[in-house]
Amino acid sequence: MTVIGGGIAGLCAAIAARRGGAAVRLLEAAPRPLRGGNARHGRNFRLTHETPQAYVPDRYTADELRAELRSVTGDGTDQVLTELLIERARSIADWLIEHGVHLQPPGTGVMPYSRRTAFPLGGGKAMINALYATANRTGVAISYDSEARSLQRAEDEGWTINVRSAGADAAIRTRSVVACAGGPGADPAWLHENLGSAAEGWMVRGTPYSDGRLLDLLIAAGGRAIGDPTMCHVVPVDARGPQFDGGIVTRITSIPLGLVVDRSGAPIDVAGAGAQPTHYAKWGPRIAACPGQLAYLILDTVGLARAAPSALAPVTAPNLGELAAALQIDPTALLQSIEDFNAAPVNATRAIAVPPFAAYPMRPGLTFVHYGIKVDATMRVVQADGRRHDDLFAAGMIMAANVLRRGYLAGLGITLSAVFGQIAGEEAARHVRG
Ligand SMILES: Cc1cc2nc3c(=O)[nH]c(=O)nc-3n(C[C@H](O)[C@H](O)[C@H](O)COP(=O)(O)OP(=O)(O)OC[C@H]3O[C@@H](n4cnc5c(N)ncnc54)[C@H](O)[C@@H]3O)c2cc1C
Repeated sequence: MTVIGGGIAGLCAAIAARRGGAAVRLLEAAPRPLRGGNARHGRNFRLTHETPQAYVPDRYTADELRAELRSVTGDGTDQVLTELLIERARSIADWLIEHGVHLQPPGTGVMPYSRRTAFPLGGGKAMINALYATANRTGVAISYDSEARSLQRAEDEGWTINVRSAGADAAIRTRSVVACAGGPGADPAWLHENLGSAAEGWMVRGTPYSDGRLLDLLIAAGGRAIGDPTMCHVVPVDARGPQFDGGIVTRITSIPLGLVVDRSGAPIDVAGAGAQPTHYAKWGPRIAACPGQLAYLILDTVGLARAAPSALAPVTAPNLGELAAALQIDPTALLQSIEDFNAAPVNATRAIAVPPFAAYPMRPGLTFVHYGIKVDATMRVVQADGRRHDDLFAAGMIMAANVLRRGYLAGLGITLSAVFGQIAGEEAARHVRG
């Protein structure tokens, strides 16, 4: 069998399928140094536990997870898949540990207290490396720099995949396919097609290799699309960061400490509504709605001292006039915005008044899109007419919209991808073993 995509979903599928007795090939589009998709950038994953564990304090129950999921996604999600996710969120940490991942003891290092999530020791990259080592050791045949470019039903049994590997095309035959190529969106053309020209100012926080091409192939082959391609999880990122793969270090988290203005110097949120430190996802769409999809966070020296360290140093100036000049925005408008902000009673404790001043230019940074392929409880791809192929599975962000129609909970992306990856691998192995 063949797993397409070497992110966390593909790795979990490949390892689970090997454990289930299948011969497994894993195709990863990225070259080896960039393998692992977006989990490379991940910090934590969500799990349930009735008692404190070595890697997570306190307790966090299945009922709590169910209620929180419901509060962010609302109705319309697949209840069977949601319950599967909740059930497996109990054992996901042990499964990852069993397969080589080390978790950080709670309360150590710089990671915040969390009873809802566990932190891989060394971050997402270390987790991915551990899973690749396990996949190698257990006999998964891994091909890097190998992109699946087409998928056709073979005449007798199974599938033919056309793979572009290091510039050369080859066709491979396989008895079953597990599609784990991530959600769509890491492709400017795809974003433009679905979001219009406004998406030109967006940045993609994750890997450029999860470009949605495989999702398009599944839909073209009759798979049922679910979700809404215009609904995205998008957060403010440093506009000077890379177009792709900026990860978490380019995210701008200090918005509650200052004022956001657009490129004309007009304020975006004087009253500070939605300015809690964790409300990044509310700010992404606001910045996306700004002219040129560009905005600036203005801080004074007090705010800057309280801000989390950033990957790129802010633009600084001794006064607001020079700051406006450095940002190429109208100084009169900026000064007026700051004056109004400081005069508002709600901002009494956070006036922007003490020089020197600083600014972060910000753009919308895409994390994922609420759009993907419909699957059943065995992760088999559901066709538009309701039927399904016995031997075609999908797992991870490519099918996350079954559960996440809208909204998000921190740490759910990795859990969802790992859990559904495991199930897809188990089911595909059962299928090829007959
Ligand atoms: C910056 C950032 C930070 C995040 N932080 C967290 C976090 O702290 N906690 C959390 O739970 N979630 C986090 N997430 C979300 C989480 O990383 C994802 O939900 C999860 O990693 C998705 O895994 P996946 O395997 O489904 O897809 P991906 O990670 O997108 O992996 C897909 C893989 O498939 C490969 N591929 C794509 N197309 C093809 C093809 N045609 N042929 C062959 N290979 C292909 C790609 O190279 C890639 O390796 C974060 C995401 C981002 C972008």
